[in-house]
Amino acid sequence: MNITKKILIFLLVGALLVAVIVGSTFYIQTRILITDTITTKHLEIAEDTMDKIDRYLFERYNAIVAASVDTEFEKALAQKTPVTPAEQSLIDKKMDTLARYTGPWDKLALIGTDGITKYTIAPNELGEMVIGTHLSAEDFAHVLAGNTYYSDVFKDDKTQKPTMIFAAPIRDESNPAAPVVGMIMGHLTWDAVLSILHTTDDSFIVELFNRKGVELGDDSYEKNQSEILNTDVRNHPAIKAALNGLSGSGEFDSLDEPSENVLISYVPEKGFGAYAGKGWVLAVQAPATSAFRAATSAALVVSCLFGLFVIFVVILSYSVIRRTVLLPLLSLTRIASQFGQSDFSQRFLVKSKDEISQLGNALNEMANSLQVSQSKLESRVQDRTHELNETNLLMKSTLERVSQLKKFSDDQSALYQLMLESIGDAVLVLDKHKIITLVNSVGERLLARKQSELIGKKVDDIIKFRFQDDSVHFEKQEWSQALGGTNLTRLDIGMDLVGVEGKPIPVSATISPIVSQNENIGTVITIRDVREERELQETRASFISVASHQLRTPLTSMRWFSEMLLEGDAGPITDQQRHFVQSIYQGTDRMISLVSLLLQIARVEGHRLKIDPRPTNLRFHTNDVLITLRPMFNAKSQTVEIHSDPENLPEIPIDQGIMWQVVQNLLSNANRYAPEQSVITVNIVQKGDIIVYSVSDKGIGIPESEKGKIFEKFYRAENALLAVPEGSGLGLSLVKSLVLGWGGEIWFESQEGQGTTFFFTIPVKGMEKKEGEVSITI
Ligand code: ADP
Repeated sequence: MNITKKILIFLLVGALLVAVIVGSTFYIQTRILITDTITTKHLEIAEDTMDKIDRYLFERYNAIVAASVDTEFEKALAQKTPVTPAEQSLIDKKMDTLARYTGPWDKLALIGTDGITKYTIAPNELGEMVIGTHLSAEDFAHVLAGNTYYSDVFKDDKTQKPTMIFAAPIRDESNPAAPVVGMIMGHLTWDAVLSILHTTDDSFIVELFNRKGVELGDDSYEKNQSEILNTDVRNHPAIKAALNGLSGSGEFDSLDEPSENVLISYVPEKGFGAYAGKGWVLAVQAPATSAFRAATSAALVVSCLFGLFVIFVVILSYSVIRRTVLLPLLSLTRIASQFGQSDFSQRFLVKSKDEISQLGNALNEMANSLQVSQSKLESRVQDRTHELNETNLLMKSTLERVSQLKKFSDDQSALYQLMLESIGDAVLVLDKHKIITLVNSVGERLLARKQSELIGKKVDDIIKFRFQDDSVHFEKQEWSQALGGTNLTRLDIGMDLVGVEGKPIPVSATISPIVSQNENIGTVITIRDVREERELQETRASFISVASHQLRTPLTSMRWFSEMLLEGDAGPITDQQRHFVQSIYQGTDRMISLVSLLLQIARVEGHRLKIDPRPTNLRFHTNDVLITLRPMFNAKSQTVEIHSDPENLPEIPIDQGIMWQVVQNLLSNANRYAPEQSVITVNIVQKGDIIVYSVSDKGIGIPESEKGKIFEKFYRAENALLAVPEGSGLGLSLVKSLVLGWGGEIWFESQEGQGTTFFFTIPVKGMEKKEGEVSITI
């Protein structure tokens, strides 16, 4: 239900309430007012009528009194002799005149003191005795005593008509002492009084009652005369009140019909002039319904008028409210509801400055700003939609690409799986928590466990290595660093995989970190079963060892004998012989060196080398080596400089024999590959917990293309082959094995034709002691 209807209903209900309350108040008040008016009017009628009756009776009374002083009548009654016909006619005439002007009278007669009717307007009554018939003896005596008399209403026995008697004594008025000679008596025609009661208004009844509450007549002139003097209402409260001398009005039971409710106005008789009255009362009686009908209809008319007025006011108010409040409000509501549908084009028509118009203004302003915002928003939405469409297209193509990639990736992963399976080595893929996530079937076989037993396990619990050479340190920490790091770690030094069924398996391993954005996200461990290589190596080493050993003795003999021959211990030799023997001596010497080297390498690689560390000053030790090599440097006029930082190097525990081999090899290489008169520099520098040892020369250098092969056994660079034809290509291989064996590192920097520097490191804590079969010393 909209507000218009609500207000209309509210107004109608309010109007109805007001109409009912005010209408009924109006109705009651009007009714009271009109009732008062009616009763007042009735009371006035009653008083007037009562007054008229008294005045009328007073006039009759006066007429009788006036007639009583007529001397003709006094004479007629006073004379003792019978009257003459002339006198009789005179009196009769007078009586007729009197009756005509003062009547109407039913009877009018002159009564003698004896009570006999002497003269009368009705000849048949002549001589009639009035005492006991018309007047009581008492009343008769009362009149004869000189008093005027009037009776109450009574019914004449003869005529059976109601009447009342007026009587006055007759005497000589000129002589106050003169006796009463009779009286004049008149019977009033009661209809004359009834005619006073008569009204033409049917809305009420006028009724007269005597002092005993007996009805004397009413306004229905033609009313059955028999009712007169027969109805006694002395106990009726209205009549009772009037008989007690009160006048008033009120609602009572009807005087005639007790069941009927009537409005009665009552007045007591007041008398008029000398006529004091007989204590009668007069009542004006009107049926309540008819009395109130006018009041009711008047009140209804007033109420209806008021109702019409209220309806008019309601319609007027409604139309004013509708125009000034409701329509603007509906307009506001419509505009606001348009807002809800994002339509901000509607505006409120501001006609005044009231609150609604202010609200309308605010709404208009809001619509303006919303319209602006909406257009901004719409353009933004358009832009965004455009962007989204583009993104959508991009996404679509990306999705297509992704699905292609997925397909590719599925294919790839199948491929990778196949690749993984086709790799001859054991491959384990770990996540960044070192948990095995993938293992190939070679890995299953090598580790003697099923894939399901391996995947999800921590790699440390599965793989355990044991290094054959105790000098090789690959500690737990380093292992975990290798797994978590970003650099590739190769473990191709002699080591065994332990903890698997059966014997330890010789293996080499590669730990390859999977790096993304400089972070380790996993590791691939490749383990190769090197049982065959190990066996081959061992066979070769033992062969070399045996062969070298076996060769060394005859070679040593050969060198010794050739030396003896050169020294002439076997007699003088010719120059040609000397030349030949010298060649034998030099070849044998090179052979011995070669065999020694081979033997040393075999010892190192066979892990048979013992390490016996002793506190050593590296600088002094280098000097010692240099002393033995001095003839070589002198032969090429080369200078060797030894520098150390700090100047006083700490003594560190090292195996001097091993260190001797390393230093001696590097220095002899420098000597051989550097030109004459050049300077060879040895630098021994402590850097934290390591010592970096380097040998620099200004020699032939190492060609770029051959740098990767320099530490390989028997490898010699092209330029070295040309510059120094004698050489085995074994020295650096031995040096590298020895350095790595004590846990150091070895590398070089070189530029062809410029020179070469070889670096190696020794931990400041030195080498760890190791029990072995042989020492490096030959
Ligand atoms: P050899 O010196 O007997 O050839 P090495 O094992 O000692 O064997 O050296 C291997 C090769 O390394 C040499 O043949 C040479 O090519 C190169 N080389 C080693 N030391 C030097 C150096 N100081 N200057 C230039 N080349 C060198």
